Amino acid sequence: MFLQSIQLRAFRNYREQYIDFTAPKTILLGNNAQGKSNLLEAVELLATLRSHRMARDKELVCDGEEIAQIKACLKRQTGVSDLALTLRRNGRRTVNLNGENIRRQTDFLGVLNAVEFSSLDLELVRGGPEGRRHWLDTLLVQLEPVYAYILQQYNQVLRQRNAFLKNIAATSRTDTTNNSPLSTQHSALSTHNSEQLGIWDAQLVTTGTRVIRRRERAIQRLAPIAAKWHASISGSTEILQIKYAPNVQTVENQSEQVQQAFLDKIQQRVIPELRQGTTLVGPHRDEVELTINQTPARQYGSQGQQRTLVLALKLAELQLIEEVVGEPPLLLLDDVLAELDPSRQNQLLDAIQDRFQTLITTTHLGSFDSQWLNSSQILSVDSGK
Ligand code: ATP
Ligand code: MG
Repeated sequence: MFLQSIQLRAFRNYREQYIDFTAPKTILLGNNAQGKSNLLEAVELLATLRSHRMARDKELVCDGEEIAQIKACLKRQTGVSDLALTLRRNGRRTVNLNGENIRRQTDFLGVLNAVEFSSLDLELVRGGPEGRRHWLDTLLVQLEPVYAYILQQYNQVLRQRNAFLKNIAATSRTDTTNNSPLSTQHSALSTHNSEQLGIWDAQLVTTGTRVIRRRERAIQRLAPIAAKWHASISGSTEILQIKYAPNVQTVENQSEQVQQAFLDKIQQRVIPELRQGTTLVGPHRDEVELTINQTPARQYGSQGQQRTLVLALKLAELQLIEEVVGEPPLLLLDDVLAELDPSRQNQLLDAIQDRFQTLITTTHLGSFDSQWLNSSQILSVDSGK
């Protein structure tokens, strides 16, 4: 697929900007804080309706404005599409495809596919599980757009169940001061509350199992591709393994058994849940384990090894999306070349060639060889222009 043009209005530090993309590779060149990453973020939002930087909409709208707009024209094998995303400070969004307002975001997701690789991704190995879940969810949204809806349903049930637990916890704290020990809280649940909790449990289990199953399947597909890239980049016998580690025991292709295990575990944890006023079991607490030769990568890896791992993950994402959607996605490279040594830089640039339309930010052109420079469109970015 090829992004032909993009138009930004009141998005981040861009007031009004139109850009035509004229080559498979575009280098966005500029000093710090000029708007290079903001431009990649705009493309990423059109692809995933999510921001890598986990920004909220009010941060995306240009200071002093109420509404931001990102419009783009995309060429795919199936034809040309016009995409538009309107963001408002109050968080309300409008998506528009070929001039028509789209009611369900799942009809918009999947039109443009993109993989973003930025220095933030190095946190995928070093950071906590939340970042890995966010990464996996963003990938899944592109592989099967209906996942956005599945995840939204789960998060909604989770929020409501948490509010319910918090409410009970607050009430029983008042009771505790009246000499009702915490350990008796569960038995002290009124019949009404117990029934209500049972309803939330059932919904959490149904929606959560859908999330777990899809994440598991995505990792099963991604893991062998990433392991292959990893072996090729590291040129060694180190074996990369990626495993989805849900906090309930799962059995492949057996949704009913997953649901039962999920329900059993919730019921076991009900006392601490009531005490803490929050849901302790479910995919919002799952982990994606990254291991090299069976040792957790965050403990094992030198910085260089961790970078190799993230690079392998990103190349695997590109390949998997291409396999699933049948066309190469865009690649958005934000400041990563500087983080890679020359050999890894070459591996990455070789893998891209002209196969993936690539937008790449940099503060200087030193990392690119003359062949790259000659075949790239170079845009200078300065103060949101
Ligand atoms: P670096 O090389 O440091 O990564 P960059 O060119 O990638 O720089 P960006 O992150 O794209 O920089 O842009 C940062 C600039 O955008 C900052 O000057 C910031 O103040 C500005 N900015 C961010 N959000 C908004 C907003 N909502 N309204 C106006 N300006 C904003
Ligand atoms: Mg930047």
